[in-house]
Amino acid sequence: MPHSENPENPENRENGENPESGENGENRENCERHEIAEPLGTSGTAETPGSAATADRPAGAVVRETRHVEALIIGSGLSGIGAAVKLREAGVRDLVLLEKADDLGGTWRDNTYPGCACDVPSALYSYSFAPNPEWTRAFAGQPEIRSYLRDTAAAYGITPLIRYGTEVTRAQWHPGEARWHVETGRDTYTARFLISAAGPWHEPLLPEIPGLADFPGEVFHSSRWRHDVDLTGARVAVVGSGASAVQFVPAIQPRVGRLHLFQRTAQWVLPKPDHAVPRAERRFLRSVPGAQRALRGAEYAALEALGIGFRHPALLRAVQKVGTLHLRATVKDPHLRRALTPDYTLGCKRLLLSNTYYPALTRPNVTVHATAVKAVEGRRVLGADGSRADVDTIVLGTGFHILDMPIGRRVFDADGASLDDHWKGSPDAYLGTTVSGFPNAFVLLGPHLGTGHSSAYAVLEAQLAYVAGAVRHFRAAGWTSMDVRPEVQAAFGAEVRQALPSTVYNAGGCSSYYLDVNGVNSFSWPWSTGRMRRRLARFDPEAYDALDA
Ligand SMILES: Cc1cc2nc3c(=O)[nH]c(=O)nc-3n(C[C@H](O)[C@H](O)[C@H](O)COP(=O)(O)OP(=O)(O)OC[C@H]3O[C@@H](n4cnc5c(N)ncnc54)[C@H](O)[C@@H]3O)c2cc1C
Repeated sequence: MPHSENPENPENRENGENPESGENGENRENCERHEIAEPLGTSGTAETPGSAATADRPAGAVVRETRHVEALIIGSGLSGIGAAVKLREAGVRDLVLLEKADDLGGTWRDNTYPGCACDVPSALYSYSFAPNPEWTRAFAGQPEIRSYLRDTAAAYGITPLIRYGTEVTRAQWHPGEARWHVETGRDTYTARFLISAAGPWHEPLLPEIPGLADFPGEVFHSSRWRHDVDLTGARVAVVGSGASAVQFVPAIQPRVGRLHLFQRTAQWVLPKPDHAVPRAERRFLRSVPGAQRALRGAEYAALEALGIGFRHPALLRAVQKVGTLHLRATVKDPHLRRALTPDYTLGCKRLLLSNTYYPALTRPNVTVHATAVKAVEGRRVLGADGSRADVDTIVLGTGFHILDMPIGRRVFDADGASLDDHWKGSPDAYLGTTVSGFPNAFVLLGPHLGTGHSSAYAVLEAQLAYVAGAVRHFRAAGWTSMDVRPEVQAAFGAEVRQALPSTVYNAGGCSSYYLDVNGVNSFSWPWSTGRMRRRLARFDPEAYDALDA
């Protein structure tokens, strides 16, 4: 993407004003200012205060609005922004993004922990339609990724369509009107299409550890980093050793007095081919047509080659060897090395990349407890193996509610059953995107589409091609609703379940966040991302029950 000057006007961002389509980002004729008059301040949200009494509205009342839009997107992370771009290209001008926070960026707004960066090369961890030749590192850090999302949203005219501070609390399908009714803490919306871009890695997973609530020091999750807590010289316990911990542990280790890492499972960690991108290379990428695309293509191919191993775990021995050598080269102490040696096949859990994690664990101020945390007693953290650590601060690197996202409890079918009620702990969607009983709705980065080796952008863009195709077809055919046939969804689910057992995700001998509460892998796509792209490239109207106008 040309790193354009940010045309974003902070005032517009505040109030969601859309210069293109009229007041507040929507077509005026779709905005019905008729709703509730209630005493100011009762709801605690930012309604429009009624300043003076009128015939039909008492003084001090608030006005809530019901607005109709063609498409309503929940969330303004990379999925929501990408969806807005592609829906506009498909001809949808009347859309809104509802964002509960006060800024866009999702993951890259929330995760400000020291060392936060992507673990897929940046040329691939970005939109294909908005290449960025200005990445300063091969694997960009959080501030740069956040700026990229801001710049892209601004450059594509998406920023003014975002309503901040607007949390979707309930969305329900109304078949009589063939519309979604969406409630927020503020206004109410109706929408022809509902797109959930609420993010699988959004809601922190807080472990239920006896005594944790009574810990007298500070406790926080890595995705809600407490920058006001000074870790200098402090005794810190880190719970968890996944993708976030691998990044923040080496970043805080030199600063803390003592670091106790509680690691339930040893992880496969490969060297990270990260480096600063020299100015000359950036100039080259900027000025030579196709260079950026070629780099992205090469990175995509390399990760796809790794993906072949994920589907044929016997091929992963060579990659595992790299992990073993990396561990051997950086950790000399045989006890520590043993504690850090995984007992499952590489790829079974999310693969981690770091050049600094293992070296940090060898430093004299670090103790690795190769055990889960059993309890917290006062300032003491107790491991299940009997080990203990007295600490001032506990940092939870314990992941997210990935397969039990809160949005599943907020989106309802016509009869009032939620996505969660349908799923019963095992999320399911046709092509990871549409759910029977939830017409005109799309789930981005939905179930069955996780790859474990490639970029979320690759998955997202495959889905967006499908969503845009669906919307185009819907409009051209004069449909009012489209609902994926239950037998089509069931057949797809069966296909996935049949293919998964031979993949490393299921056969690798580990327990991972790919498994839901029922022990079922609802997360993974068992084939290549090329197949995902092909499968989602064309919208298939025959898979849907549709109603005409
Ligand atoms: C630290 C971290 C690093 C990652 N690194 C990589 C990587 O290197 N490569 C990779 O492929 N993937 C990575 N991922 C996974 C994935 O790419 C990111 O989580 C990505 O940001 C997902 O984008 P999203 O837009 O779907 O969700 P999010 O970025 O989570 O955005 C969702 C948005 O929806 C909003 N929202 C949620 N619920 C509501 C509601 N009810 N009403 C209104 N708004 C709501 C949230 O506030 C948020 O802004 C990483 C994840 C994390 C946590």
